[in-house]
Amino acid sequence: MPNKPEPLSLIDRFGRRVNYLRISVTDRCDFRCLYCMEEAMTFLPRAQILTLEEIYTLAKVFSELGVEKIRITGGEPLVRNGILQLIERIGQLSGLKELVMTTNGSQLQKFAKPLSDAGVKRLNISLDTLDVEKFKVLTRNGELKTVLRGVEAAKNAGFQRIKINAVILKNRNHHEVIDLVQFAIEHELDISFIEEMPLGVVSQHDRYESFYSSNDIKKDLEQAFTLLSSTVQTGGPSNYFQVQETQTRVGFISPHSHNFCSSCNRVRLTAEGRLLLCLGNEHSVDMKQILRTHPGNQEILKQSIIQAMQIKPERHEFQLDEQPVILRHMNVTGG
Ligand code: SAM
Ligand code: SF4
Repeated sequence: MPNKPEPLSLIDRFGRRVNYLRISVTDRCDFRCLYCMEEAMTFLPRAQILTLEEIYTLAKVFSELGVEKIRITGGEPLVRNGILQLIERIGQLSGLKELVMTTNGSQLQKFAKPLSDAGVKRLNISLDTLDVEKFKVLTRNGELKTVLRGVEAAKNAGFQRIKINAVILKNRNHHEVIDLVQFAIEHELDISFIEEMPLGVVSQHDRYESFYSSNDIKKDLEQAFTLLSSTVQTGGPSNYFQVQETQTRVGFISPHSHNFCSSCNRVRLTAEGRLLLCLGNEHSVDMKQILRTHPGNQEILKQSIIQAMQIKPERHEFQLDEQPVILRHMNVTGG
């Protein structure tokens, strides 16, 4: 009897298995976080953005190639028209074990329940400060109140887990790390602290001077909490600790202080359809061009993705004290 064929999988030159795809469904956003983009941003013309149908086709092809986890992100994913219908379709892909989203929370009062109903299991909500004025400064136009209501709506919507993401900048919000963890504990959420990455040029702060490392954050937190090492892995770059006697896990995403490239299992699809093989390098394949040159030909897509694994770089080369080498901002890339 012939052997059952092995399911396809994506393996790169360094033996890493890629089973996680992050999709930026739009580069647009209702906020202008000062570490993510400039105040006056020029967004991509619509024709340059993948259509929802194209995104679905790529998600399907990736799931057939062994991708088990998809994160929908952006820009702000919930400002893209038709996003719910796309998520419902992606949620039904067989082979996909986890559909998750990162959002700034501004639209969650409206979208939390439909997202949960559509199959989104876990939600990351970005929240860098609990101070109304500071929130306005960091996001340039966001309302803290709206996001807090969004967090509440998410809690009531039945997600398996909700995690707060906080980018910490020295002298902007580093004094708030204990308050943010306290907030997470009170609301039975997890929280990850992220070291800022030098993606795109930003003008309102010096990234080198604003650097506040995960080690510093951890030291600050240990003044108030006991952090127990945890073996929990969620398939992303966070390194987790359990806050003793609580439900809350604290994660650290430390591209500078604890390089996580050796266990990298992910690739990104940018809003304009570039398959980006590493957040900190420009190695990519233009999937939009392939899609539009060979409509309906999923075999070509599959072969292109398999071949793309050969150019996945070993590691990122972020340097905070130099001008950014990566000129694309995080909103295009999909954080
Ligand atoms: N708009 C959504 C949000 O803010 O959650 C999703 C997209 S946003 C680009 C995804 C995540 O990337 C957010 O948690 C954000 O704080 C983070 N981020 C943006 N720019 C960053 C940078 N330069 N370095 C580190 N994290 C960044
Ligand atoms: Fe928008 Fe998210 Fe970037 Fe903030 S981090 S500007 S919310 S895409």
